[in-house]
Amino acid sequence: MKPKMKAAMVVRFGEPLELRECEIPAPGPGQILVKTEACGVCHTDVHAAKGDWPMKPPLPFIPGHEGIGVVVALGLEVTAVKEGDRVGVPWLYSACGHCEHCLSAWETVCAEAQFGGYTKNGGFAEYILADPDYVAHIPSGLTSTDAAPIICAGITTYKGLKETRAKPGQWVAISGVGGLGHLAIQYAKAMGLLVCAIDVDEGKLAHAKRLGADLIINAVEADPVTAVRDGTAGGAHGVMVTAPSLGAFKQGVGMTRKRGTCVLIGLPPGEFPTPLFDVVANCITIRGSFVGSRQDMAEALAFAAEGKVKADIELQPLSAINQVLDRLEHGKVSSRVVLGFGNS
Ligand code: NAD
Ligand code: ZN
Ligand code: ZN
Repeated sequence: MKPKMKAAMVVRFGEPLELRECEIPAPGPGQILVKTEACGVCHTDVHAAKGDWPMKPPLPFIPGHEGIGVVVALGLEVTAVKEGDRVGVPWLYSACGHCEHCLSAWETVCAEAQFGGYTKNGGFAEYILADPDYVAHIPSGLTSTDAAPIICAGITTYKGLKETRAKPGQWVAISGVGGLGHLAIQYAKAMGLLVCAIDVDEGKLAHAKRLGADLIINAVEADPVTAVRDGTAGGAHGVMVTAPSLGAFKQGVGMTRKRGTCVLIGLPPGEFPTPLFDVVANCITIRGSFVGSRQDMAEALAFAAEGKVKADIELQPLSAINQVLDRLEHGKVSSRVVLGFGNS
């Protein structure tokens, strides 16, 4: 009998994940097998399990794109990693490597890109197959649990902050200070920015303050657009919307300073109205941002390895995945849940 592993699978959209015993996959040519030590749970996993987006993953699949573990087997012709290396299997699972986007370090928008825990099985399992050319290399000083949120929440917000083009001393407004946002605050402070944190949850805002936010705004109690404009003397130079709520996107554009940039990160399904006159007349840039390149990954991990950024983690077992996804959907996870596999 072939060896088995535990995995949590989406079998039908909108239904609880099934905990199954399945065969441990064998790495084919150019692939590696990773034994999972930790995997963060991202709000994207909620969208994936519900089938929220126009591009749907093939069913059944194993979600999870913050999986960290040790390389335990190599397929033929693998030279980029060796057995025993500690790696992360991120959202950007692989790309073609030779299109115009890959050549310019924008492999995230490669037409042939595959996505971990979405178009390829991910880290809600004891083993993960990965592409050695696209795994994250985990610095030795960083534990697997601490590294897990960095390989999606960390890289995405670090890259998103760069995409705001805000300079040290300028204001950045971060809308949504959950898994992504609580790391965004720390990256922004490490990058010398002034931070305005916006959320709908008092506990998250209190935490944002502890993490160094210069200004906190509860979007339920006050109009966040007016509050940001008043608190930053004219709007934030950079805005980053991580909230999985459509209302936050129109607000994000409204709180952007003249000639500033509003970076869209959150991915609730749907569309949001854009105040065209204001965007045009104030020369505002609205920009989407999707995780980050492999170079962004190395940089985002370096901040964590140097202790400048640290995810706040609640450890849970794989068997708790459905309760965790439900709490995440309803805003009841304080920062990031990381699934532990009892072997790190
Ligand atoms: P999360 O649930 O941990 O955090 C979301 C936060 O937004 C919570 O603190 C919640 O209270 C807050 N929020 C909800 N409604 C709000 C509102 N109207 N205004 C302000 N704050 C509000 O989720 P997460 O893991 O941080 O992911 C957030 C979103 O980012 C998801 O849609 C996810 O799919 C997306 N995402 C995008 C990328 C990318 O590359 N663009 C990468 C990772 C995640
Ligand atoms: Zn994610
Ligand atoms: Zn490509």
